[in-house]
Amino acid sequence: LQYGAGVTEDFAQAVDEILGLLRAQGRRVTTQRRAILDALLAHDHPTVEVLSAAAPDVEGSTIYRFLDDLEDLGVIDHTHLGHGPAVYHLVADPHHHLACEACGAVIEIPAAELAALRDRVREHYGFVLSPRHFALPGRCVGCG
Ligand SMILES: [Zn+2]
Ligand SMILES: [Zn+2]
Ligand SMILES: [Zn+2]
Repeated sequence: LQYGAGVTEDFAQAVDEILGLLRAQGRRVTTQRRAILDALLAHDHPTVEVLSAAAPDVEGSTIYRFLDDLEDLGVIDHTHLGHGPAVYHLVADPHHHLACEACGAVIEIPAAELAALRDRVREHYGFVLSPRHFALPGRCVGCG
């Protein structure tokens, strides 16, 4: 499965691929789930609130259940960019986040940028970092 970087061009294809994966795994595919998936792919790092606004006919509990399903399947995962609610993004798009504590700007960096640090920490401390789960806080260039 290849979605992520080119997801905006291949939007319909990405939706179809994920729906196909759900069906192959014996998960239900409903109109509501399709609406959530459309909203998920149409927004950059949406919160549940954003998804809910984009799919107003779908109940919040349905959205949470579907997001859990997609996380179980390894299609999406969530991250915390700051003090606010979790946001969702595609697993197939490996990146980390830098979050400006002053203005809230979020900069995506390739996952490979932290690979050396990850290896060193594992080697020296026996600890495996999961830097994608939380943004690294700091200051953007504009906030100095
Ligand atoms: Zn979390
Ligand atoms: Zn992300
Ligand atoms: Zn800033």
